[in-house]
Amino acid sequence: MVKILPMSIAKLGEFGLIERFQRQIKTDASVIKGSGDDCAVLAYDKNFFQLFTCDMLVEGVDFSHKENPYLIGRKSIAVSISDIAACGGTPRHCVISIGIPRKTSIEFMDKLFKGMLDLAKIYKINLVGGDLSSAKNLVVDVSMLGIVEKKNLVLRSGAKAGDIIFVTGSLGGSIKGKHLKFTPRVKESATLVKNFKVNAMIDISDGLSQDLGHILNASNVGAIIFEDLIPLANPARNLDDALVSGEDFELLFTLSPKDAKEVFKKKFKFFPIGEIVDKKYGLRLMDKRGQELILEPKGYRHF
Ligand code: ADP
Ligand code: MG
Repeated sequence: MVKILPMSIAKLGEFGLIERFQRQIKTDASVIKGSGDDCAVLAYDKNFFQLFTCDMLVEGVDFSHKENPYLIGRKSIAVSISDIAACGGTPRHCVISIGIPRKTSIEFMDKLFKGMLDLAKIYKINLVGGDLSSAKNLVVDVSMLGIVEKKNLVLRSGAKAGDIIFVTGSLGGSIKGKHLKFTPRVKESATLVKNFKVNAMIDISDGLSQDLGHILNASNVGAIIFEDLIPLANPARNLDDALVSGEDFELLFTLSPKDAKEVFKKKFKFFPIGEIVDKKYGLRLMDKRGQELILEPKGYRHF
């Protein structure tokens, strides 16, 4: 008898598993955009959409057990704020689920909670509930609601050939500390949607090449980025750090050439890194010597 071994999810990979889920999902007309973007976009009222997102941080994966609990709490809120900024919106409310190992001290939990509350306060987010459970490792999961003016909604899917690709800040080396302390780019997002027609946007949580890959897939386009233009963060060791190391939490967005000119004219501090091109070119990097390399979208994947 042939024994059929169960297939491991590692065979599918993180995004293969998500696609498998997505194929089974059906939503009703109140869902403007479901699974597949930084936030779900839901019907709200005449002028606004509601944004809805969640993110889970797991000890040993997203942070180490030796990390400062205040910063873990802070990060758990910051990552969801970043997804709402990536859709052009404003964060409003959140609920927090925490899985806690039994031996955890009260002091640790107080600090974790203070990190959450302090950041929520800065962004005027109401913490309105949650859930607690015991767990082997610490797990913190935040679900957040936001709102966005209908005319300001930005998805991953609107990039057009000819668009200029920008980032809001320097990339790479985030593992050395920035991933716990980053400032979610809500202000920058608000400036962008107020002044420009942003065609596509995503927050860089898994590395520039992978997250740009998400925009390219969703928009059915290709891109060329220029090594010379990619702003490297101080702790980044090399270009690869910027391309594939995750958790920069800068915004990556595309603007029409006309809007891009305005960015330069008005001296907005955004960094152009490349151009959207036809899908058939895929994703390419022009290196410092002027040679074009094909880039595989690579970055952090859970499995
Ligand atoms: P994020 O902005 O959180 O980094 P990713 O770029 O990793 O998002 O893309 C993951 C996408 O898959 C998101 O749109 C998310 O909503 C969706 N997703 C993740 N897990 C599930 C799930 N279990 N069921 C449905 N959709 C999911
Ligand atoms: Mg995101």
